[in-house]
Amino acid sequence: MSEFDVDLFVIGAGSGGVRAARIAASYGAKVMVAEEYRVGGTCVIRGCVPKKLMVYASRFPQEFEEATGFGWTLGEARFDWATLIRNKDKEIDRLEGIYRTNLERSGVEVVDSRAVIEDPHTVHVLKTGQRVRARTILVAVGAHPTLEPVVPGGELGITSNEVFHLKEQPRRILIVGGGYIAVEFAGVFAGLGSEVTLLHRGDKLLRGFDEDVRDALGAAYAQRGINLALGRTASRFDRTPDGIVATLSDGSVVTVDQVLVATGRRPNTKGLGLEKVGIEVDEVGAIPVDAYSQTLIPSIYAVGDVTNRANLTPIAIREGHAFADTVFGHKPTIVDHDLIPTAVFSSPEIGVIGCSEAAAWARYGDIDVYRTAFRPMKATLSGAHDRMLMKLIVDKASDKVVGVHIVGHDAGEMIQLAGVAVTMGATKADFDRTVAVHPTAAEELVTMR
Ligand code: NDP
Repeated sequence: MSEFDVDLFVIGAGSGGVRAARIAASYGAKVMVAEEYRVGGTCVIRGCVPKKLMVYASRFPQEFEEATGFGWTLGEARFDWATLIRNKDKEIDRLEGIYRTNLERSGVEVVDSRAVIEDPHTVHVLKTGQRVRARTILVAVGAHPTLEPVVPGGELGITSNEVFHLKEQPRRILIVGGGYIAVEFAGVFAGLGSEVTLLHRGDKLLRGFDEDVRDALGAAYAQRGINLALGRTASRFDRTPDGIVATLSDGSVVTVDQVLVATGRRPNTKGLGLEKVGIEVDEVGAIPVDAYSQTLIPSIYAVGDVTNRANLTPIAIREGHAFADTVFGHKPTIVDHDLIPTAVFSSPEIGVIGCSEAAAWARYGDIDVYRTAFRPMKATLSGAHDRMLMKLIVDKASDKVVGVHIVGHDAGEMIQLAGVAVTMGATKADFDRTVAVHPTAAEELVTMR
């Protein structure tokens, strides 16, 4: 009899953990997964998926308005928050069921419990008290949103965990932060008709993105009537009969019905037993791993947001898959964290792969920049104020396209395909010889000279 109960014990049934478990099982491993909340993890339960559904909901009002320019007369449009939340919840339940069924069909045993590490080969399942001996342990517990910075009254704020379950749509909302989550929810609530104030400590949104992209988003959000409170922070929050009063660092006040704090996420490493096996987390609480997602303890691996490499679902999935290939498929596999296409589902949407202009100057020394900003065709009749921005960054020495930046309708869809070309190492000459698809917005990517 084996000295182990299972070949693999996965802690956390999110994107990374589920993929790792299923692939490991497909190689014949005996796998157990513990999940303390809901199968599917942040992305499915309270992240990408419900967020995108809310983004869709928020974009209809502009569509209704634009339709009139094309000859349509529409009746009065009314929005019911409760219907959106109910339908969204139904869809999330359905997806959770699919995730669970897929795990079970793969032969993976799922236990609905928190699990903690006791030693390099033992996991304690808290609900049952069971101690499972595992040849390999994978930590895939993800991260959680913070309510930082801590200020008086800060507990009046909610995070992205709670925003999906609000009983009512806030009429006025203050969103703190200038990253992915803050700008996406600013777009959602503005689209649904809430009065939105976006409070960010920097002077532009989305630090790290290309400056033209940041400028385009800032201009579009100001144009949409989002109140951009930049270069400031919140000093305190007070509940009053009229709502939550936020006092900002410049002394100004904003009164709202809801405060959403989106100032980043922290790895879920507290109380996991890591200290028992000698794994030290870094300054943000993340588990350090090598290129194969292995920790300092040879039998313990970690993937996804808990390792704080690139906090994106497709990356967690890749890391989980690569881990299973390496350990159970005997095919050592490394995930490339360098070229990652990504989308921000703000409205307007953003799609990016590769370097910003500033990063490309620093990395390649000599670059060419191609940039176009234009009014999309649909806006000509609709009268919408929409603009599109497209930008290609080219390394002069190799002629390779090392950065693509798109702001505007369907940028997320476009960047997936541009991402194939850039990942293959396409040159500007390759873009140039690609025939344009006319009339589209995307054709500008191959017609910039
Ligand atoms: P981000 O790290 O993207 O943004 C955090 C924001 O909060 C930044 O603007 C940051 O400012 C600000 N901030 C941080 N600390 C403080 C502070 N003490 N006081 C004031 N402001 C502060 O985190 P998010 O929470 O938006 O998202 C978490 C991660 O989830 C993202 O990094 C992303 O990887 C992932 N995600 C991806 C999505 C997608 O792919 N579409 C969607 C949603 C999330 P500064 O810039 O000055 O540091």
